[in-house]
Amino acid sequence: MTETKSSFAPLTAYSPRKKAQSFVQKDSVVIEGVDISGQWNKMFDAREITSYDLTHMDKLTAIPGAESMGWCYQCAQCIPACPVDNAGGDYGPRKIFRRLQTGVDIFNHSDMWLCTSCQNCVRVCPKEVDMVQIMPAARAAAVLEGNVPDELVEMFQNVSEYGNPMGQSARKRVKWTRGAGVDIRILPKDAQPVDVLWFVGDYYAYHDRGNDAAQAMARVFSRLEIDFGILGADERCDGDSQRIAGEPGLFEELARHNIEQFEKYEFAKIVASGPHAYNAIKNEYPKFNGGSGFPIEHYTQFLSQHLDRLTPLLTRPFAKKVTFHDPCYLGRHNGEYDAPRKLLQAVPGIEFGEMFRCKQQGYCCGGGGGGMWLDGFAAEHQTERLSENRVKEAIQVGAEVLAVCCPYEVSRFEDAVKSTDNDGKLEVLDIIEILDQCME
Ligand code: SF4
Ligand code: SF4
Repeated sequence: MTETKSSFAPLTAYSPRKKAQSFVQKDSVVIEGVDISGQWNKMFDAREITSYDLTHMDKLTAIPGAESMGWCYQCAQCIPACPVDNAGGDYGPRKIFRRLQTGVDIFNHSDMWLCTSCQNCVRVCPKEVDMVQIMPAARAAAVLEGNVPDELVEMFQNVSEYGNPMGQSARKRVKWTRGAGVDIRILPKDAQPVDVLWFVGDYYAYHDRGNDAAQAMARVFSRLEIDFGILGADERCDGDSQRIAGEPGLFEELARHNIEQFEKYEFAKIVASGPHAYNAIKNEYPKFNGGSGFPIEHYTQFLSQHLDRLTPLLTRPFAKKVTFHDPCYLGRHNGEYDAPRKLLQAVPGIEFGEMFRCKQQGYCCGGGGGGMWLDGFAAEHQTERLSENRVKEAIQVGAEVLAVCCPYEVSRFEDAVKSTDNDGKLEVLDIIEILDQCME
């Protein structure tokens, strides 16, 4: 065997964007007396990656907010964390980076719309690739270019025209109050100061199952003698999901409208039914309000501070096996895991058990980041809906009730119970409905 001295150029000469020039495969390599000839040697051939078109990668990473997409070093920590990949979506930041690296135009690709902004990949990424910043920035560019799924276009139009994604009239926003069985102060009609300005939200106000939760909330507040009022027809969509789905202008319009309403009344704090409204009012609205913002709590946070008065009112046992789904925007986005659990643990007779994916590792329902209106689109690109995956997990742990505290979730999970042929096996209830049922 002929000995060949290693004469490779130093590795520092290699740049992934330039064709390697001096690397050649050797038939035989012996270094310091050790024969290292073999297939590994081909590693030093110039690779195809050097000739891909990086136009779309460069376009994406040049958008303010989306720069971190370029920081990925392909470690793949994010893929098992991504619920979309878990539901057969062939997805996650690593895969998106790789597609961009090989010339795919993400602005005309389904990858642009499948992320639910659940933040689970951000939690594990060592390079701080931040999909929660990347996606809204990239989608805003795609929206400007007119590359938007039809389902989202319809939702944007409804929100823009009617102030809610369902396209319902503002007048109907208070229709649910008639069935609550308690008096509800509507602030535009009675502007007396209140302790709590309750931000009801679109799904509580307009969706049938949301109405059930809204009415339950009004009754629980009344039994606790909470002095509260609502904005009624003057409330508009909180806009957070629209922002993340790529419409920052629409979000700003909604935020400014709601802020203007808040400023008309005297109240000690805002209580939001939903984690998305809570997130928007807490973290985004201050940008349009001189940075000062409003005191805001999610309803589970608010009620968990009143357990001393709430617990004695829970007299009717709820003897069922219950598990709880952490909403991404209450949990990972805002760090609240205890408040909903404290409320559930106060329920008499309850048998509470966690699912495997809970708290920081909670699994997304698929409704965030615009996913609420993209079920048809997602079905074309995934083998199952995220909500279906989650319902199966709840059943696997033996739950009879899946408790939630996000207005998107009751309808999502009830649909998923049906579509997975689990009708009658799992009930989906908002925590507020459970509390209401336990009160005489
Ligand atoms: S975890 Fe971060 S660095 Fe690793 S592959 Fe995913 S996005 Fe890239
Ligand atoms: S934010 Fe969630 S859905 Fe989006 S890529 Fe990361 S893990 Fe997947």
